[in-house]
Amino acid sequence: MIALQCRECQRQYPTDLSYVCEECFGPLDVVYDYSKLVVKRETFEDRPKNLWRYHELLPIEDKNSIVDLGAGYTPLHRADRLAKRLGLQNLFIKNDTVNPTYSFKDRPASVAVSKARELGLSAVGSPSTGNLASATAAHAARAGLPCYVFIPFDIEPAKVVQASTYGAEIIAINGTYDDANKLASQAGELYNLGIVNGNIRPYYVEGSKTLAFEVCEQLGWIPPDHVIVPTGSGALLCAIRKGFYEFERLGLIKSNEVKISSAQPVGCSPIVDALQQGRTSVTPVERPQTLAKSLAIGDPGDGEFAVKNVRESGGFGEKVNDEELRQAIHLLASTEGIFAEPGGVVSVAVLSKLIDAGRIDPDELVVCYVTGNGLKTPEAISIEGIQPAVVEPKLEVLAQIIRR
Ligand SMILES: *Cc1c(COP(=O)(O)O)cnc(C)c1O
Ligand SMILES: [Zn+2]
Repeated sequence: MIALQCRECQRQYPTDLSYVCEECFGPLDVVYDYSKLVVKRETFEDRPKNLWRYHELLPIEDKNSIVDLGAGYTPLHRADRLAKRLGLQNLFIKNDTVNPTYSFKDRPASVAVSKARELGLSAVGSPSTGNLASATAAHAARAGLPCYVFIPFDIEPAKVVQASTYGAEIIAINGTYDDANKLASQAGELYNLGIVNGNIRPYYVEGSKTLAFEVCEQLGWIPPDHVIVPTGSGALLCAIRKGFYEFERLGLIKSNEVKISSAQPVGCSPIVDALQQGRTSVTPVERPQTLAKSLAIGDPGDGEFAVKNVRESGGFGEKVNDEELRQAIHLLASTEGIFAEPGGVVSVAVLSKLIDAGRIDPDELVVCYVTGNGLKTPEAISIEGIQPAVVEPKLEVLAQIIRR
């Protein structure tokens, strides 16, 4: 890592707690000196099976700062039964539901809390649509740092229970994620908190690049043709594109022509709407309304950058409704044994829609990122029909149940 660099005017800053350009207010990104980085495919072979196996490409200087719960290196699951149902030949699920706190957010949180420790901050926090709250709280607990999370009051109960059990102070806001985000950012300044997706954001987003690295490594150093990414703020999608770029730049993969498609729910789809309407600007959604609460970010911080990344890559934007999300949860669980939350499975629902629209060739190698676990949102799955009928423990009753 050499510097933080403004995305708009390219001005460089030291790698401290800056996150916006003083000149043009553009966001700052971490830049590395790729010509000085010597990494080969073999470099990673004997490393631990978590995201820190790629530490040369992560923005932590001192290994002692690392706060590790084992996030990353999740299974890349060859999904033949699902592929057959959808009419594909080469489909993989990147199963990020099995991270330490059960969503992909453990990746950026692990990097951000490590950076907070390296910068000497004495407390951390985050605004969250649900999953980041637990990811930040768990890593803060591991680091022994106090943690403050800012959530909209109406997120799923399991996510609140989980985050508060890790010891975080929960600040439930009477408002949307955007309101929580604004308050968290002000609190960060006033109380000197490291807000993982605020003043530590340049470092935070680097953790999510590893979702591209791992997919390349797990496919035998061949990048996929097409990936589908659940999208809220757009940070994850942009980080995945950066990951593929870096592996190409370092010669670890031959070429990077990965199409990156954005998946959003109807009810909060500002990025997909811009893509579908041919706009470069993103119009905020004032009152997000969706089953996929983890994607309910009306004013996405990386919205325009995500639109640009999808377009440049040759990918698409597509959105699905609550019913399509429920169906995708059942489809993925019953064909592949992976239980996802609505925000995590939106990629699978969108894949199905893109296939129906003829936008994906049957032989394309497709990876769907599945980013959050179904146990976090049991109420989303089905309102009725989950509880089995209670029967006497007698063999006779089985005659009506097991038909074979
Ligand atoms: C936060 C989240 C996303 C989206 O990430 P962004 O970086 O906000 O685009 C996707 N899936 C799940 C389960 C999430 O919690
Ligand atoms: Zn600038």
